[in-house]
Parts: sequence; structure tokens; C-alpha cells
Amino acid sequence: MSAKKRVLLTGASGSMGGGAFRELLRRRDKCDIVLLLRPSPQNRKDFSRYDGQDGVTIVWGDLCNPDDVLKAVTGVDHVLHPAALIAPEADHKPAQCRRINFGGTSNIIAAIKKQPDNGDRVRLVYVSSVAAYGDRLPPIHWIRVGDPLRPSVGDFYATTKIASERAIIDSGIKNWAIMRQTFIAIPNALSLMDPIMFHQPVNTHIELVTGDDAGYGLVQTTEAPDEFYGRVYNMGGGPSCRFVFLDFMQRMMKMFGLGDFRQFMPLNWFGLRNFHCGWYADSDVLNSYLGFWRHSLEDYYQEVEAATPWYLKMARPVTAITPGFITSPIVRAVMKRLADPLHWIETNDEEKIKAFFGSREKWQSIPDWKDYRFEPSSPEPPKRPRQEVPDKPTLEYARSLAQARGGQCLSNSLSDLTTVLKWKCGLGHEFDGSPRLMQAGHWCPQCAAPPWNYDEVAKVDPLFASHYYLNHGKDEHQKVDYLYCPNEA
Ligand SMILES: [Zn+2]
Repeated sequence: MSAKKRVLLTGASGSMGGGAFRELLRRRDKCDIVLLLRPSPQNRKDFSRYDGQDGVTIVWGDLCNPDDVLKAVTGVDHVLHPAALIAPEADHKPAQCRRINFGGTSNIIAAIKKQPDNGDRVRLVYVSSVAAYGDRLPPIHWIRVGDPLRPSVGDFYATTKIASERAIIDSGIKNWAIMRQTFIAIPNALSLMDPIMFHQPVNTHIELVTGDDAGYGLVQTTEAPDEFYGRVYNMGGGPSCRFVFLDFMQRMMKMFGLGDFRQFMPLNWFGLRNFHCGWYADSDVLNSYLGFWRHSLEDYYQEVEAATPWYLKMARPVTAITPGFITSPIVRAVMKRLADPLHWIETNDEEKIKAFFGSREKWQSIPDWKDYRFEPSSPEPPKRPRQEVPDKPTLEYARSLAQARGGQCLSNSLSDLTTVLKWKCGLGHEFDGSPRLMQAGHWCPQCAAPPWNYDEVAKVDPLFASHYYLNHGKDEHQKVDYLYCPNEA
């Protein structure tokens, strides 16, 4: 029998999966690679040449098909699962998004449990998302595992990640780990020129990781010790990868030869809230296992510079000496077409105005850039007590978890943190879950979006409210099923 590990990777055509595949190819002396790939023309074109190579097996199939997934999972030691349908496509196709992201993950769980000994030998690493935390603007821009999950209104993608985490944590699978992935930076920065750019408040704090480092880290899990499993982690690039969106835009636009972006993008083209990202106060925990902090923000800027298209580089000497009053109107006209928030105001899209600004009046009171004050953040994470986890979990501990959320623990005994208990939320819904699930920031699945009914949830859930009311009024009312696709049931 071969001593090599057999590693299944999903999503090899994505940015993190692509990084992981390149890393696995470097380790073919230690790993046999199995890819599960959709037989799309693009995937055939990109991957067919590897099929049948020594140590590479491609299962041409679909995550949504349980038989395909079982075929891919059978006989592997590790399952690395970054595949997902992501925004903006995910926002517009919620049914498909749930089928792929949640349905696909459920198929993987089922396939692992069909392996000998309930799949105890198989190690599953699931890639979740920072989007699960939702809006984390200052003063709550430092994120830790355990913080309440509160995906932004309309962020359907995030809700499928949360549901998948929940399914994995209490699945009964012995060896699982979850990595909540941050913004993955790819060298083709022009791809950022998307309306989503304007959904981000300019003071959004971001800790990026490059696609290569993310993929490297994912593959490093195949070397991780037993104690690595059974936990949820935040995955970000560390202190050298932290920045504020405002500074990032300045640097990028200058790199593209466009000068100071504030000349052609007014402040009120950007959302005020309801995005995601933050700085991870605990990303060092994952790095201590995986050692994937290899690239900094500066390294990334250099990658972008190297990948900047020739026509932009050619234009740079011209735009640099052309007076702003000539270039700005042209760039402004191009950018304005992308500025979603402005279109919401123009078309009076009430739900999006509520979600991203609070009200039309709040939007109207956004100042000009010259009157905007940005308070720089301390680069040091705040000293907060580590989450208190008793050595031997008690019922009192479970009750304290419930109390923090304004609910109750209904069970009368537990043996350890993996015991599935009965709970009741502040709105009276009863549900099952382990203390380990609640420790990771999960709570009532019925209160979890969709629908987004946060103004009601905040009234009964103190932990949720402590974040929510920092930039929401107690007199606000919003309940939406979907924000971007009102016609899809
Ligand atoms: Zn509930």
C-alpha cells in the first residue's frame, strides 16, 4: 500500500483552490491528488492535461450530485473543500447558491460518513468566510472566533456558509476543521472594478491573504496534528496584510494612473454600513499550525503592479501630466456607472437604502471628502479576556452561553462540548446544537437569515444587540427575504 496521503480538493478552478492545487502539485512525492471538477468547457481546457498524470485523478462531476461526491471522497485521507458559488453571482441566484454551497457540503458530509468506521480516518477542512460575521466597522473591527454571526442584509452567500458550518460542526464527523477565510487578493486587480466596490464603507478594515498563501495554508492542514481538528479558525494574512479600504483605494487608483480617487468618486457613492471584513485578532492561531503568512500587503501591491495591463501602464505618463480637470470628468463618468448606491438613491430602492444607509436622510447628510474625518485605528488588537472555556464543561457553562444570547438551555445534562443539547432563543424558537457550535458564534437557526429580521432579533439577543446598535437605531424596521433578487422564491 502506498504511504502517500490521498487528498481530495474541490474548487481547484477558484482562487484559493487554484493556489492549493499548485501547492499539491509541488508535493506529489507525498500526496496523491484527487480533484472534483465540473466538466465545463473551461475546466476541461484548464485541467484535462493533468488527468491521468502520475498522482493526479480527476473526478469529472458535480458537487450537487451525491454519487459524484461519493466517488471522489471514497478512499481519500483528506478532503479540502473551498468550492463555492460566490458573490455577486450568489446574490442573484440564491437557490443555486444554496444547492452548491450548502447542498454540496452536505453531500461531502454524507460521503465521509459512508466510509469505513463512519469516516473517522478522513480529515475534512471546510473553507467558510469572514462574510459570516457581517458588518464589523469600527469600533468592532477586530474579529475573533466566537463573535456572533450576523451576515449583512442580502448576503445570501454568507448564509449558506453559516448553514454549512452548522451541518459540519454537529455532523458527528470525527475530524473536521473550519477556516473562515478573509478577502482573497488576486493579482488581476482590475477585477475589483465591480459595483460591489461601492458597497464597502470607506472605513472598512480588511486583512487580506493572497490566493497563493491561502492555498498553501489549506494544503498545510494535511500536515497538522490531531489537536488541530474539531475547531473553527479565522484565516487572514496577519499584521502585515491589514489595511483600511480608503488607503487601499488610494494606492490602487494611483497604480492605475488615475491619481487621487477622491477627485472623481464622491464619498456618498459608497455605502455607510452592511458590508463585511475586519481585522482578525486571532489569525495568529491558525498561522501557528500552518505557517502560511508568507506575503504582505506590499508584496501584493507589487504583484498587482506586475499584472497591470500594458495599456494602463502606457497611459500612466499621460494621465500623470494631464490636469485633473480633464481626466476627472471622464473617469468619473465611467465610475459613476458602477456606483450602485447612487443608483439605489436615484431609483428609490427603499430596502437597499435602509440596509446600506439607514434612510435617505442619512445618505443626504454624508459630507464631502474635505469634511470627512477618518480616525486611524490602533494596529494592536484590543486586550480582551480569552473566551472562558472550562476544562470540564458544565451545565452552568451552557446556560451562560444561552444567557448571553437572551435564551435558555433546556437540557439537564451534558457530557462534553460535543453533546447536542436543546435550546430556546429569545423569540421562543426551540432548536438543537452542541455547546461547541454556540462557542463558534452560532445560535438559533430560525432567527438566522434569511429572512433578515435583525431589528426584531436585536430586541431579544443582548450579544447581537451589542454589535447591532452601534450603527442601527432602535426605531429602525426592516425585514427582507432577499435583497438582490426579489423574484426568486
Ligand atoms: Zn430564534
